[in-house]
Formats: sequence, structure tokens, C-alpha cells
Amino acid sequence: MITRQFGIPVTSPGAILRREKDLGTPLGLETAEMLQRGDLVQDNTIVKLIEDWLHLHGGYGFVFDGFPRTLPQAESLALILTGLKTSLDAAIWLDVSEETVRARISGRLQCRTCGFTTSVDSAQFANRPICPYCEGRLERRSDDDLGVLQTRLREYNTKTQPLAEFYGKMSILRKIDGNRDRDAVFADISRIIEDKVPA
Ligand code: AMP
Repeated sequence: MITRQFGIPVTSPGAILRREKDLGTPLGLETAEMLQRGDLVQDNTIVKLIEDWLHLHGGYGFVFDGFPRTLPQAESLALILTGLKTSLDAAIWLDVSEETVRARISGRLQCRTCGFTTSVDSAQFANRPICPYCEGRLERRSDDDLGVLQTRLREYNTKTQPLAEFYGKMSILRKIDGNRDRDAVFADISRIIEDKVPA
């Protein structure tokens, strides 16, 4: 939605790694089990992915989805951005309750090709689970499982939560109530981006 609305490239290490697995690359195969268990992948692997992506696509603004997720990743990102003579404008924190997370992942359908996300409850896709943007197949993610969720939440609570303080101290943390519907959340995200993008 961000790329369509603002023309800003978005990347997500999770999406890259799922694609690498589909392609059968060594990186995809090495990390597949970690994704399936819900464990975070090693920081150096993720930072390398982001650094390569930034060199290719990051020249005119960028949004990371699901990165950084640990303090060492955030510190590495700061160094990389300093080297590129740029910095982060905002760290958008989607605050969601565990109940919302549980409900969302039990019904999430995702396009394997472009990452478009919807829900099994959306009548529009009930008979034809095909992405409206790229015609890819809409599928359930194999790690969207309530057992795996326990590990993902533990990783989040121990390793990702401290980033709120890290970006709070830099005065770029912007918290949004993510428990609301997609349009309300996107409107808030859009306001933050509009605030930062030169007219
Ligand atoms: P996501 O698509 O963001 O839900 O991520 C799916 C999985 O990819 C996570 O459960 C991790 O195994 C891995 N992953 C994604 N982003 C990161 C990250 N920043 N650091 C470490 N592992 C990650």
C-alpha cells in the first residue's frame, strides 16, 4: 500500500527469505527452519540482506517492514545509513494486542509474489484466492500457526521490544494503534509519511 500510494520502495527480510526458499537458494534453504520455528534469523544475515537492498533500491527513500528487530540490527543500520549520508525519518510502531495478533494470523492470506495481505474472511477472495495486484496465489503462511506464534512472541518480547526505547531516545518513534481496521491504520501511517516526504 505504501509503494502504491507514495512510490516509496518497501522491503521486508521475511518476504525476501520466503522468496529465497521458493527459489531453492542456499540462503533460503539455510534459514527456512528458523522461519518455520518462529526464531529470528542471525543478525549478520539480515543486515547483509538490507545493506545489499539499500545499495540497489534505497537511493530515493525506503521503508523497512519487520526490520530492525533487534538492537544489534538497529545499531548496524545506523552505521550503514551514516555511510550513505542519510538517516531514518521515523520508526513506526504498530501497537497490537496479543488477541489481535492471534486473530490476524489465524486468518491471514498472503500473496507469495508481492506480499499483498488479506484475510480468509474477505468474501472477495473466498472462491478465487488470487492477488488483485499481481495475480499471484493468496496462501496461508506456514508459520502463521498458533504454536509458532508463541516463539515469535517470545522473540518479539525479548529482542524487539527494547527498540522502542532505542528509537524513543532518538525522538523518531511514532506509535500507532494497530488494533483498528486497515484503512484507519493506513491513514495514520500515511500522515507520518506525508509529514516527511517533501511536497
Ligand atoms: P515476517 O515476514 O516479518 O513475519 O518474518 C517472518 C520470519 O522471518 C520471522 O519469524 C523471522 O524468522 C524472519 N525475520 C524477518 N525479519 C527478521 C529480522 N529483522 N531479524 C531476524 N529474523 C527476521
